[in-house]
Amino acid sequence: MSGTDDLTEEERRHKERTLKHKAVVDAKIAAAKEDKGLVLVLTGNGKGKSSSAFGMVARTLGYGRTAAVFQFIKGKEDVGERAFLSRQPGVTWENCGEGFTWETQDLRRDIAMARAGWEKAMQALADPTVSLVVLDELTYLINYRYLSLEEVLPPIRNRPEMQHVVITGRAAHADLVELADTVSAIRDEKHAFRAGVRAQVGIDL
Ligand code: ATP
Ligand code: MG
Repeated sequence: MSGTDDLTEEERRHKERTLKHKAVVDAKIAAAKEDKGLVLVLTGNGKGKSSSAFGMVARTLGYGRTAAVFQFIKGKEDVGERAFLSRQPGVTWENCGEGFTWETQDLRRDIAMARAGWEKAMQALADPTVSLVVLDELTYLINYRYLSLEEVLPPIRNRPEMQHVVITGRAAHADLVELADTVSAIRDEKHAFRAGVRAQVGIDL
């Protein structure tokens, strides 16, 4: 520990401020003692929702735990995380859709795929050996009324105590937000797509 004798007035004030700040942060960390399975909602129009969810899959696997990923809607569009993570031990990865409705033009089939996907997701949500369940783009299924809140919320609420759930997609329903412990709404300030750049491997896919 260096003394304060040789510090300038500005350095001394900085030290004082940061020490106070550290005390506040340390107190908050000490007060947060609970462990529990969390529900996270990653929503908003900005880029970074699904990639964040898949990042948590990697984190989970890093501790030798298991994860189940359900990609609703965008089954057709493959992402690099699937190529990598679905090959790792401890991961199950289900594609439960064939693209957005304007791509498939077959509403009945979209709904059937969404429902079949939800059936499988419910199994993961009842399995205490699964540490993390990712419900990627689930918000759309609710917003399009492919699935009702009455079907979706209870299996999430009644999941095993220590299981984490990450839900992604734009315009998350207020009831999903209310159920969640952590909610991030990613704002779209700029996106390269609007400047004419197509989806880039390793960034968008
Ligand atoms: P990512 O998978 O990159 O984390 P995301 O899950 O937040 O993105 P989605 O709405 O699911 O976003 O869209 C996925 C794809 O669309 C990605 O290729 C992403 O770069 C692109 N994208 C996301 N947000 C925007 C935006 N605001 N404008 C244009 N393209 C976007
Ligand atoms: Mg996404």
